[in-house]
Amino acid sequence: METSNGGAAETPPADVNETSETQATAAAPDAVADPPSNAADAAAGAAAVAADANHVLDANVIDRSAHPISRRSIPENVLKVLYRLHRSGYRAYLCGGSVRDLLMDRTPKDFDVVTDAHPAEVRRLFRNSRIIGRRFRLVHIIFQDQVVEVATFRREPERTVADVESEDFLITDDNTFGSPLQDARRRDFTINALFYNIADFSVIDYVGGLEDLAEGRVRVIGDPDLRFREDPVRMMRAIEFASRLGFEIEQKTYEGILRHRNEILKASPPRVSEEILELLRRGWSRGAIRLMVDTALLQPLLPEIYTAIRDDHAAYFWKMLEVLDRTVQAGRKISDAVLLAVLMLPWVIDEIEREEQRRDSRMRMGDVITFIRDLTQPLCARMSLAAGTRHQIEQALETLWRLLEPPTDRRSQFRAVYREPFNDALALLELYALSSGRYVDVFRQWQAFAVRVKRAQEEAEQGTVKRRRRRRR
Ligand code: ATP
Ligand code: MG
Repeated sequence: METSNGGAAETPPADVNETSETQATAAAPDAVADPPSNAADAAAGAAAVAADANHVLDANVIDRSAHPISRRSIPENVLKVLYRLHRSGYRAYLCGGSVRDLLMDRTPKDFDVVTDAHPAEVRRLFRNSRIIGRRFRLVHIIFQDQVVEVATFRREPERTVADVESEDFLITDDNTFGSPLQDARRRDFTINALFYNIADFSVIDYVGGLEDLAEGRVRVIGDPDLRFREDPVRMMRAIEFASRLGFEIEQKTYEGILRHRNEILKASPPRVSEEILELLRRGWSRGAIRLMVDTALLQPLLPEIYTAIRDDHAAYFWKMLEVLDRTVQAGRKISDAVLLAVLMLPWVIDEIEREEQRRDSRMRMGDVITFIRDLTQPLCARMSLAAGTRHQIEQALETLWRLLEPPTDRRSQFRAVYREPFNDALALLELYALSSGRYVDVFRQWQAFAVRVKRAQEEAEQGTVKRRRRRRR
């Protein structure tokens, strides 16, 4: 990739494949004035621009001709937002995951815009917008089938020596506007801090993200000791991006995780649980959970699960995640309850076996159900899971045990299939059977039975519709 230093304006390339209607007017990105909304903001804005001016030569600016991002891969609504901001005299950059993914020729999950216009100014430019967020105010621009999120450049809050000495690194207030450089530096990883500038279609790199992207590295921006203490969830995000993109975690970043893993307990449990789900949900769970175990970041969070899956304690579990990833990649939706039940399964199986050894007898179904509830409830509470999800996890696990011993009479079989958690439990049984090789026949039997029941149900419904129609005539 060819690069050129400096933030000088580039004339937008006459890209023959893109309509002139969507061409930006050529304005130097660094010549765009920052229209401040009040005196204090004006001072802050001027300081930010001045600070940036000192660093702009440090930025790597990659011309349109030297990177693969085409406007054709940016949704029209996002382009509209970028162009309107730009034509109104503001800087307008695409940022974060979208630039990373476009450079890697992947489809971005969402397209975030960042600008030097303040939220109220953005709000004024777009009738179809609203300001959201209490802590950091963002603007949502609402289109028929899409919401485009626009943020104002911000910087990390100043930390005093007292903060550092008291080891109080957790970010509690990050609502401070900043310059593009400061905005890049407050982001988590170098690959997540690239900007795409609509003024000249260049990519701006303040933090060495392009090199890390090319080398396949997840590197925290700045000092890992500080950045992981500020926000411990970044350690899980490092693992997420490494497994998701097939990247390695850069050495200092990795060592930072090893040093600070226990601080993950300072993060808010709902946020951590959401991140755990994010690791399981999207087809890269095997690599992600492997890294959670290898770094032992899972240990402080879910010690019982960590013990059940570490080393080779549950070989089938890793196969199970492989099957899960394939299932998800094939487009099948797996509920959050099943995902979490998968994670808990080796532990639940171990505990039931241990209990049976202690009792020196197999537990009856009623006992198993109570045992699973008592076991999983404290863990679910610690994870701050929603009551509905907790209930579904319990039900999925309980029903799984019921399915393992299929009733012989048809009526009980029917009752099982009609119970609400049947589908979750069947999905769980499928993952377990296909990875452990156990209960495969039981799974096939239930699957065939469920298909027959569904078909019969559909036929019955069609029959009712036909009968009704006939009657009406
Ligand atoms: P995805 O494709 O999953 O949306 P993303 O990179 O866009 O990936 P988001 O969670 O949507 O990730 O966040 C958007 C951007 O905000 C990131 O790319 C990163 O620059 C920044 N960011 C998100 N979380 C943090 C964090 N905890 N600390 C610092 N910066 C963060
Ligand atoms: Mg995103």
